[in-house]
Amino acid sequence: MIEHPGILQPGSVIGLLGGGQLARMLVLAGHPLGFKFMVLDPDPEAPAAQVGADHLPCSFTDKNALGELTKQCDLVSYEFENVDADSVEWMEQRVDLPQGSQMLRTAQHRLREKRAIRDLGIEVTGFHEVRNLKQLEQAFEAFGSVLLKTVTGGYDGKGQQRILKKSECKSAFESLHQEGTSLIAEQFQPFERELSVVVARSRSGEIRSFPVSENLHRQNILTICRIPARISGQVEKEANRISACLAEGLGLVGVMGVEMFLLPDGSLLVNEIAPRPHNSGHFTMDSCETSQFQQHLLAVSGWPLGPTHIMKPALMLNLIGDQQDKLLQNLKLLPEGAKLHLYGKKEVRPGRKMGHLNLSMENPSELLETLIKLQVWDQDSLERMLN
Ligand code: AMP
Repeated sequence: MIEHPGILQPGSVIGLLGGGQLARMLVLAGHPLGFKFMVLDPDPEAPAAQVGADHLPCSFTDKNALGELTKQCDLVSYEFENVDADSVEWMEQRVDLPQGSQMLRTAQHRLREKRAIRDLGIEVTGFHEVRNLKQLEQAFEAFGSVLLKTVTGGYDGKGQQRILKKSECKSAFESLHQEGTSLIAEQFQPFERELSVVVARSRSGEIRSFPVSENLHRQNILTICRIPARISGQVEKEANRISACLAEGLGLVGVMGVEMFLLPDGSLLVNEIAPRPHNSGHFTMDSCETSQFQQHLLAVSGWPLGPTHIMKPALMLNLIGDQQDKLLQNLKLLPEGAKLHLYGKKEVRPGRKMGHLNLSMENPSELLETLIKLQVWDQDSLERMLN
């Protein structure tokens, strides 16, 4: 691993593997610090390439492009988990890459990830490795209700299937199994709330967490976050303890999203980790002194971390698929102080994250009424998060 001497100086170039919305918001957060950016992303219209970053429109396995990034940049970071870990390991030998390839290997493989978390003494959802139909049926018998997932490549609910009856095991197995790879059968958790913490760890080992977010998913995609979460002080303390323990134990440098399930008995299980800025941390852009994107850059660049407390209660709503267009038709109904963040994506696809809306939430019932009138998010979701 290449060590960077001291703090990264203004004028330095940060390379980003991935040029999606997270990279775009990293670039925007890095400009006031004087950093320049180069992103590698095969999409010619990559969101990060539209905001003043140099762009290598190449595949993540293109050795020439990876080599170019290592040569042109003073430091390299990744914004999503589905980059090839071998390529990142190769780069790590040649350029300062503070997040490291090891963290990536752990986070991009659900079995490895769950085992690493459990090895640190932290509870995860019950799981079994599944190589054949018999093992899946055994897992189903042990758990009663199962969520079958691919071990790699799944995000936003892709590569997952719920199994409610033993007779459904065969078709679920056949639809997800690929020769030579395992699947993971997770116990289906009837959780009370989904929570997450964005935790940062600096190069010198300082750890700071943003407030716990309460998250609502629809069709497995994050839809709304409420911050602070409606939880007891004890649960909040435990969520922070777990996040700090994972940051320390896994050797995090940068920010990481830790997704958790709060069970009816008040205990917490970790669902997954994402060693990069996280969708549930977008509220920090408008409600905290330091955004998660700025914090990530401070952490990887060897600068001291920024303050993480929340200045006002917040609501973050994702704009998914056609929700951006619906909102644009009703802009005059937006509540005062609403902060709209759009990612510059031209093509609308179902399930595609187009942008998000940050709101402060001094008066939840008034806000609920306004948001219902906007007709962008379904009333049931809004009532769940604002009542
Ligand atoms: P994931 O891709 O693992 O983050 O899953 C996406 C969403 O599916 C989560 O945010 C939960 O809402 C749901 N989910 C995932 N795993 C489980 C589980 N073991 N039990 C219940 N719900 C789950």
